Amino acid sequence: MIDIKRLPLPDFAPGSVWLVGAGPGDPGLLTALALHALDHADVVVYDALVDPSILALARQGAALEYAGKRGGRPSPSQPDISARLIRLARDGNRVLRLKGGDPCVFGRGGEESLALAAARIPFRIVPGITAGIGGLAYAGIPVTHRDIASAVTFVTGHDRAGAVPEGLDWTAIAHGSPVIVLYMALNHLDRIAARLVAAGRKPDEPVAIVSKATTPGQRVVVSCLGDAAACAAAAQIEAPTIIVIGEVVRLRAALDWLGAGEGQ
Ligand code: SAH
Repeated sequence: MIDIKRLPLPDFAPGSVWLVGAGPGDPGLLTALALHALDHADVVVYDALVDPSILALARQGAALEYAGKRGGRPSPSQPDISARLIRLARDGNRVLRLKGGDPCVFGRGGEESLALAAARIPFRIVPGITAGIGGLAYAGIPVTHRDIASAVTFVTGHDRAGAVPEGLDWTAIAHGSPVIVLYMALNHLDRIAARLVAAGRKPDEPVAIVSKATTPGQRVVVSCLGDAAACAAAAQIEAPTIIVIGEVVRLRAALDWLGAGEGQ
């Protein structure tokens, strides 16, 4: 067992905020810095996508504060969350802002860091494994692959109001890279797929939908662009899901190491 105290990790100073990525779910994917922060935090302000098994690693006595949606009620606004982090830091706490995946990949890590910087609160950003890379690896899908996939695009399927983002150039996205990874896209998959096909992507191009990636509830549905939304509905696939479009999906047939380990 590696003792993380042997690593030269920075001091988590009182009055500072660490914005930490918790990865997609499996606690084994936490970084040493994330474990160090969980070990020392006075307050953990966490989002909906942080796995309960990870929160359970927080130091005994640490206060846990939820900052996500609950019971259909809207989530606290971003300015409220930033103001809360600033307040907690000014009160002298070691504040761990814990987010699913990587804090700066569709995680508002940038917004919160800007607010902390403006308030002159010392902060650190600790990257985490993002669902669009690590979640796919747990489905046996490498996000790039020499010769067939030398570029990848990460896209959100959801704008601030919950609609398909209109500000995105979907034609450019369709043409831009052989692999497209969609976050927050399950509800709009039919419309997004239709736009990509209209822009020239082939309807029979493979798609994988990975639900609850890296958790014991992980499920993978493999389909094609033309059918993906219907397949997801038929399989009653549940959020959160990460969706990947591209030839790399075919590699799963040989690389599904998790399914192989489970005897599938
Ligand atoms: N910061 C996160 C992304 C937050 S946006 C990251 O880097 O992974 C929320 C979206 O992330 C979800 O709608 C889903 O598309 C994706 N996601 C996060 N965790 C996931 C998981 N365990 N399985 C599948 N998708 C996940």
